[in-house]
Amino acid sequence: MIDIKQFAALQKQSKNSFANQRQLMKKVMAGQTVLCSTCKQPLYLLTPKQSRTSSNASTENPEKSGIRCKKGCTDIQLDFV
Ligand SMILES: [Zn+2]
Repeated sequence: MIDIKQFAALQKQSKNSFANQRQLMKKVMAGQTVLCSTCKQPLYLLTPKQSRTSSNASTENPEKSGIRCKKGCTDIQLDFV
């Protein structure tokens, strides 16, 4: 059983991280440099268009847009776009 306080804290946390993701996305899209909080590498915007230009790389062919760092510790999928 999860007690109600823990549950509320969890909810708050996920809401915050969603807001953070949107904030990150806005900054990256505006051309600002945002560093990954884990590896401190700059984040970049990944678009399906971009991935299609690399020929036949079926292993890494994301259908969706997202924001990633080089190492992949930040990997936000933009499902809502
Ligand atoms: Zn990273």
